[in-house]
Amino acid sequence: MQADPLNLAHVLEHAARFHGRVEVVTRRVEDGTIERYTYADALRRTKKLANALKKLGVEFGDRIGTLAWNTDRHLEAWYAIAGQGAICHTINPRLFEPQIEYIVNHAEDKVLLLDTLFVPMIERLQHKLPTVETYIVLTDRAHMPQTELHNALDFESLIVDESEDFEWPSFPEETPSSLCYTSGTTGNPKGVLYTHRSNFLHANAINGKDVIGPSCSDSVLLVVPMFHANSWGLNYSCPMVGAKLVLPGAQLDGESIYELLNGEQVTLSAAVPTVWNMLLSHLQEHELKLPHLNEVTIGGSAVPRNLIEAFDLDYGVTVIHGWGMTEMSPIGSACRLRPFMKELSYEQQVDVRLKQGIPPFGVWMKIVDDDGSELPHDGGTFGRLLVKGPWIVKRYYKDDHDALDAEGWFDTGDIATIDEHGYMQITDRAKDLIKSGGEWISSVDLENAMMEHSMVAMAAVIGCHHPTWEERPLMIVKLLDGCEPSSNDLLDFLKSRVAKWWLPDNVVFVDDIPLTATGKISKLTLREQFRDYQWTTD
Ligand code: ADP
Repeated sequence: MQADPLNLAHVLEHAARFHGRVEVVTRRVEDGTIERYTYADALRRTKKLANALKKLGVEFGDRIGTLAWNTDRHLEAWYAIAGQGAICHTINPRLFEPQIEYIVNHAEDKVLLLDTLFVPMIERLQHKLPTVETYIVLTDRAHMPQTELHNALDFESLIVDESEDFEWPSFPEETPSSLCYTSGTTGNPKGVLYTHRSNFLHANAINGKDVIGPSCSDSVLLVVPMFHANSWGLNYSCPMVGAKLVLPGAQLDGESIYELLNGEQVTLSAAVPTVWNMLLSHLQEHELKLPHLNEVTIGGSAVPRNLIEAFDLDYGVTVIHGWGMTEMSPIGSACRLRPFMKELSYEQQVDVRLKQGIPPFGVWMKIVDDDGSELPHDGGTFGRLLVKGPWIVKRYYKDDHDALDAEGWFDTGDIATIDEHGYMQITDRAKDLIKSGGEWISSVDLENAMMEHSMVAMAAVIGCHHPTWEERPLMIVKLLDGCEPSSNDLLDFLKSRVAKWWLPDNVVFVDDIPLTATGKISKLTLREQFRDYQWTTD
């Protein structure tokens, strides 16, 4: 059979040729206005940028950094960089400045494309970024800020006179296309280098009807950022199927997201739970509905029951629970009900949907004990979750050793169960499990149970040292505005939901719970904050 190597630029070529009139809508980072064009326009401008980058000296294999929200220009950069054989290095702007400095230097980025918002930060860092030769600000001349960045160009002036013709070179499909660093909750961030092949296979898999499954009938709001594990692959999969793409720029608050969901008749979306909580608060406050939205994929951290139920019962929107990680491109599983499960009661169905689900074909997974022996699929036994497959990391960027065991399995660092139907459920991050009197307590289960309380906005559980039990769980709670339950009220609520010995020894109330750069509860910060916590009871 024919064996043309897979090149991601062909995805945009396909979209321009067969879905050329489908819209790509962007909320501008500079001023919040809405811009719209088509996949055909996107391809033309991508080729202009590819020519401009060549003239700036970008060569095969060079790393080109982007520090940017989801916009049309960022999309064009993705395809222009990877399509010519360079590597698009998406940088998470929510990371701390020293981490961004580390990442740019580790990747040795040659050019950095950035939103206007991030110009002041990069001005502060630029003298520590020796490899960056040119800065391209993702804006036009009118919005170009006064800047001290050396060799700074505005994106529109850079491409305006370039040709719309560009021949994508042919290279092996194992050629790296993009680079994304994990947020490095411990130690330095680690780079995951995706290839044309791995991104292609991953995007095809998530186009499956039982995974995320966008189609040409969908309008897709891409809330999950391109810098967060490839925007979960949707930036490839939507142009593959000709779905309308809505790119929200920097405004991810409830009001702005609602405006796009409604105005662009969005049918499908994907984001971490925090974004959806903000949206639901906005909807409730202003008594709004979601007439167009059918499905949202939620992942990045465990989806609480109240989120699934609120979307279902109040807005008629189905939540698809997904799980994955930067190292997996990122999708590792998605949870949809099997036909026979439609017979279950609503509550039992939600119990299933709280699980992280089934891997798409291409991902193998198993749970093992500390000796590496495989554990049964009984839904109760939990162990380390290992994965394998063609879009899963082999070796971190510039590392000397593979990140796999002798049989080629990657240890996700997650602890999980798998039930008799193959549904995987994350119990915890290995490092967040609480060891009490020699037994394990799942912080995620406790958090989920607490989140079911109607006065709780957010709940986090960490293990704190205990003189008798080694560790005991401490429940940290952010309440909804105007609510004032006591610690005992909350503990009473938990009593019927968790085993007695799992019950947190105390509840502390906080104004805010710290989040990581990828929107997860920062257990590291909480552990620091409560390092010297003293239990008042034994
Ligand atoms: P980071 O850079 O913050 O590690 P990732 O998105 O790569 O960002 O994080 C992956 C981890 O996030 C997983 O190993 C898992 O612990 C957690 N995670 C992702 N999705 C879910 C989910 N649906 N439920 C529970 N945990 C999840």
